[in-house]
Amino acid sequence: MRRPAAEFARNALHWLYPDVCLVCGAGFGAPRNGMCESCRHAVTTDPFPACPWCAQTVGPHTDTASGCAECRGHALGFERAHRLGPYNGVLREAVLRIKALSGEGLADMLGRAFAECRGAALRAEAPDVVAPVPLHWWRKWTRGYNQSEAVARELAAGFGVPFAPRLLRRVRWTPQQLQPTRAARKENVKGAFGVARSARVLGKAVLLVDDVMTTGSTLGEAARTLTAAGAARVIVAVLARK
Ligand SMILES: [Zn+2]
Ligand SMILES: [Zn+2]
Repeated sequence: MRRPAAEFARNALHWLYPDVCLVCGAGFGAPRNGMCESCRHAVTTDPFPACPWCAQTVGPHTDTASGCAECRGHALGFERAHRLGPYNGVLREAVLRIKALSGEGLADMLGRAFAECRGAALRAEAPDVVAPVPLHWWRKWTRGYNQSEAVARELAAGFGVPFAPRLLRRVRWTPQQLQPTRAARKENVKGAFGVARSARVLGKAVLLVDDVMTTGSTLGEAARTLTAAGAARVIVAVLARK
């Protein structure tokens, strides 16, 4: 159930300024659907090739058959990762904005854009269920909503696949992922997640959604939790890859 305050804030900016782009603030001249053409083009156009395993930007001639420089030889915890784009420019700006209380309208929009412009690749993964990486309840309460949940909901709707916002839950608070090494970050998030009802995961291909992937440690731990509970495969989808 949504809190009324979050519900109110959901599209507050859009109600106040229906003809202003939620990303750049430019006026449309006429009411539109929240994002100007220029911003929409910027967030849906990935200018670089990405590693099919970890979604990191790679050079145009990089052989990614067995991973890229960042993920080769490391167990990611998930099968593959897709991104809307790299974490820079307009997409970075948009992702920063969806972390604000009034950002849910924009998060919905980015989720729809993700489903529309990467639909073929994501559909080819044949997910049975779409689930967000959960926020700790305190973080969700202070933010008013979980931005990854909004994106996941739009992806699920776009593909006609069941949406399971509570498939995973945070079972403990984790400090921010600022540890310098991959091993330390992995340790930091170890045991952070739990599966509410294993029966819902058993044998399923899960599309696991987050707003940003930085090192992949959090997504890896969430994916490992799902696999341990019986998921057949876990594929990751993120708006932006750092
Ligand atoms: Zn704009
Ligand atoms: Zn990679």
